[in-house]
Amino acid sequence: MARYTDSVCRQCRREGTKLFLKGDRCYNEAKCAIMKRHTPPGQHGQARARKMSEYGTQLREKQKCRRAYGVSESQFHKYYVMATEMRGGLTGEHMLVLLERRLDNVVYRLCLGASRAQARQWITHGHILVDGKKVDIPSYLVKPGQKISVRTGSFDIEYFKALREQGADKPIPKWLELDAANLSGTVAAMPQRDDIDLTIEEHLIVEFYSR
Ligand code: SF4
Repeated sequence: MARYTDSVCRQCRREGTKLFLKGDRCYNEAKCAIMKRHTPPGQHGQARARKMSEYGTQLREKQKCRRAYGVSESQFHKYYVMATEMRGGLTGEHMLVLLERRLDNVVYRLCLGASRAQARQWITHGHILVDGKKVDIPSYLVKPGQKISVRTGSFDIEYFKALREQGADKPIPKWLELDAANLSGTVAAMPQRDDIDLTIEEHLIVEFYSR
């Protein structure tokens, strides 16, 4: 995936919503960039905020979702194709559930990472185990019954030490169970649409790809 090197807060301002890309800072209203300036970034940001065609609305919804989960355009399109091939239900919901099952998202949702970007780093650096085996692929899709844990050799990392002592600082979605003292979690069930707290109108993403 091409690396995004600009300020990640610009992505929130571009999409006009909090995407929670910076960990703790996102929960501090005084520090969150979008709470201070709500217009899109750049010289013509104000003008861009006003005009929006149907295509533009669909495109922005797709970009918002893609940026929130931190996946590349091609990966994101793959989830759409996978979702169209799933039986029953709505394509948009299938797509969100697939994104939610990504290992980097699960590590983040379990508070084992402060942001999806940090969760991705823990995974690629070999700190995360699935059912006791190292998995260094952030896009790995978890299944109900699987146990996600931190390698015991990584327990000394400051972030993990604080988590063991203080517990999770955010609510854990009901499809996951966290054992903070042992830095592990279980996938209790498949995520449902209602479990996903991002404000995304997934039907617009489906409309974007089916044009
Ligand atoms: Fe987005 Fe977080 Fe930056 Fe706020 S602090 S603008 S939510 S990345």
